[in-house]
Amino acid sequence: MGCFALRASIARAGFSLVAAVFALVLPLDAAQKAKSDVCPWCKNDPELMKNAGIVSHGPMPIGPKGSEEIVAKLPAAQWVFLETAHLRWASSLGPCNVELEDKKRVMAELARLKQVLPTVPDELKKLDPFLRLHLFAMKGEEFYARFQKLLAVTDADFPESRQATGPYMGNGRFLGEKDKFEVVIHSTRANHRLFVVDFAGTAPTDALRWHLKDEHKMIASVPAEDPDLKKDKLLFPHVVHNLSHLFFDAYKHFSYDPPLWLTEGLALCMEKEIEPTSTTNEGEEGGKSDVRGPRDWNAAVKKLVAAGKQKRLAQLLPMKEVSELDEESKLTAWSMVRFLLDAHPEKTAQFLGGVKGQLDAQGIPTGRDLPDLQRKLLKDLWDWNPVTFDEAWTGWVTAPVVTR
Ligand SMILES: [Zn+2]
Ligand SMILES: [Zn+2]
Repeated sequence: MGCFALRASIARAGFSLVAAVFALVLPLDAAQKAKSDVCPWCKNDPELMKNAGIVSHGPMPIGPKGSEEIVAKLPAAQWVFLETAHLRWASSLGPCNVELEDKKRVMAELARLKQVLPTVPDELKKLDPFLRLHLFAMKGEEFYARFQKLLAVTDADFPESRQATGPYMGNGRFLGEKDKFEVVIHSTRANHRLFVVDFAGTAPTDALRWHLKDEHKMIASVPAEDPDLKKDKLLFPHVVHNLSHLFFDAYKHFSYDPPLWLTEGLALCMEKEIEPTSTTNEGEEGGKSDVRGPRDWNAAVKKLVAAGKQKRLAQLLPMKEVSELDEESKLTAWSMVRFLLDAHPEKTAQFLGGVKGQLDAQGIPTGRDLPDLQRKLLKDLWDWNPVTFDEAWTGWVTAPVVTR
């Protein structure tokens, strides 16, 4: 502990002093690195890493000040970093046992990873911190592809910066932001709070999502201290919920908050595609995964509609505060977005793009009157108004043949 404090205070004293101190301790650092910091799977071997889509195990510019600042400031048994084509990850998670009930899922994931990283075994009783993060990084890129598919975009749609001609797509290659998406997973809540208070000015209990304005990148900090989030089975869908918000915020650049019902419905859809029993509840500043609410959301929505207790789209459209999203609103928003994605994928991609890319008369992005913008898009794309939308949705919910 004392060591971390000392390093942090030295770092603030200036670059030349830091360089001098590091030069002195380098041999010891190098020896320690050989033992615990080299990934046992890709072995930091350029060829193995390239095949597996790994850009780096660090150091890397993750967060506001980079991976070395994270290591220096946030005490942990071990930090592991991993960068892929679209995401950067940091994790202080320890090893974890593969539980019998979860074995099938883990084996399937190991098999997918093994296809690109042949050093990975078919079966393991325990995942070390490197392998845990390798699996998260693989699934993170899979999720990025999933999200691009639902937006009906590819990397080629996003130029380095805004173009004078062509459709407005934001300001950068990462869905419209300049830099990669970042996820920092903390084994302790204390580290999470210590990490985020510097740039967010607040120390929330649960996950925090943030747009680092100067770098034009989106970051999520996730504490994995609660019992449910200690297990990757529920931690990853919780991360996906947060990534869904970050991706949608970033789409065509984060210039204004997207409609709450839409971003929340979408994040819940993405989370439940990964694990149907996982539900992240939004709090003041971020999200938290727990087991409250119904287990089977399809059944719960059918019940809601049968009892006439569902929300109307007209009620959801103007919502801005997370506190307005009660249980019925969340179930309804999730099911409405599910309906759009499943029954109308092409038009839904256009709807999402229209909601995120509103420009004013001067061509500047504006979040002005989003309820009105959504009504116009529903009309133009489907010839729906909120009432006929509700009818189409409830018809889909109550249809006798369900293939979901
Ligand atoms: Zn590795
Ligand atoms: Zn959410």
